[in-house]
Amino acid sequence: MSVFEHPDFDEHEQVSFFHDPISGLDAIIAVHNTQLGASLGGCRMWPYANSQDALTDVLRLAKGMTYKAAIAGLPQGGGKAVIIGNSRQDKTQELMYAMGRAVDTFKGQYVIAEDSGISVQDLQYMATQSHHVAGTSAKFAYDGSPADGNPAPSTAYGVFVGIKAAVKFATGSDLQGKKIAIQGLGHVGLRLARHLHNAGAKLIVADIFSDGVEAARQEFGAQVVDPLDIHKVVADVFAPCAMGGAINAHSLPEISAGIIAGAANNQLVSKDMGEQLCERGIIYVPDYVINAGGIIDIFHQRNESTAEKMRSQLEQIGETVTQILTRSRQLNKPTEQVANQIAEEKFRH
Ligand code: NAD
Repeated sequence: MSVFEHPDFDEHEQVSFFHDPISGLDAIIAVHNTQLGASLGGCRMWPYANSQDALTDVLRLAKGMTYKAAIAGLPQGGGKAVIIGNSRQDKTQELMYAMGRAVDTFKGQYVIAEDSGISVQDLQYMATQSHHVAGTSAKFAYDGSPADGNPAPSTAYGVFVGIKAAVKFATGSDLQGKKIAIQGLGHVGLRLARHLHNAGAKLIVADIFSDGVEAARQEFGAQVVDPLDIHKVVADVFAPCAMGGAINAHSLPEISAGIIAGAANNQLVSKDMGEQLCERGIIYVPDYVINAGGIIDIFHQRNESTAEKMRSQLEQIGETVTQILTRSRQLNKPTEQVANQIAEEKFRH
């Protein structure tokens, strides 16, 4: 199947295939849209069964980045890269150098960053071959604390701001005494828990590993539940902060929270989940809107910005959430569809 006939091809501006016989690199880079600025997106290294699967992934992910950057208000487009291979077995320094050279052929119209299977060290190898590599170091954090290059603090703060806005929209009040159920206490989930606790929320948490939940129990007095039950608990907000697909045909009928808002990517297993949530009157804050803190962080680190400007843009997530929820209620339309429309208004002009 050619790229143009591919079901996930959607006006992508450039799709390039790379093969380097010396390092063994097989990679695809897709630039979806650069109307708002040069494209940025992570590089995923994954043992795809075949190049068609890799192409499907890169086309979808690149498009997703265009929407994410646009709705976050960044002057930036969307792109993505995939390396076909097992990051635990096939990764070499030479492979990363070859990937850096591949990125450089875009002359800055694609800027590469981290994703699954790619580390900061890998990006640093790529950066020896191209200037168009993001996420190799960080200069500042949004709250003035020392930056360690991890975008999770910005992501967690953005999610917190988004949850605050959604709760205000739904109930007219702040987070004091509200019950928030957090699924997953990793880099983002635990930091989010701290913000929510400091704002007076009551926490119910679950993780498949005990260290995060133990920290939340001791530090925030969180109630710990079985990971299989976290989506069912009676709470004001269900915050998926683990893997994708938290909202599926099995979990959706069991959700009792009135709001779903969390950091995880691809929370809805399929588009019709968004329609069903809308029919049930559950407010779903689109994942790519509320978890944009990471990309906002990368943008500001690369563009001679300041901690204050970055913080202000993270706080903008709250206003965007309110705008989406308001329009969704007025039009009786799923929030995901409303968010997509707002993003398209920004990058298709
Ligand atoms: P992480 O790997 O540090 O944390 C995920 C946590 O979820 C882990 O503690 C894991 O044990 C737990 N988990 C896995 N399966 C679970 C289950 N079934 N039930 C309960 N807990 C489970 O990842 P992270 O960086 O905190 O990211 C969390 C999510 O947010 C991911 O979906 C990620 O793609 C998304 N995200 C992260 C960032 C970022 O800046 N880190 C940015 C945007 C989106």
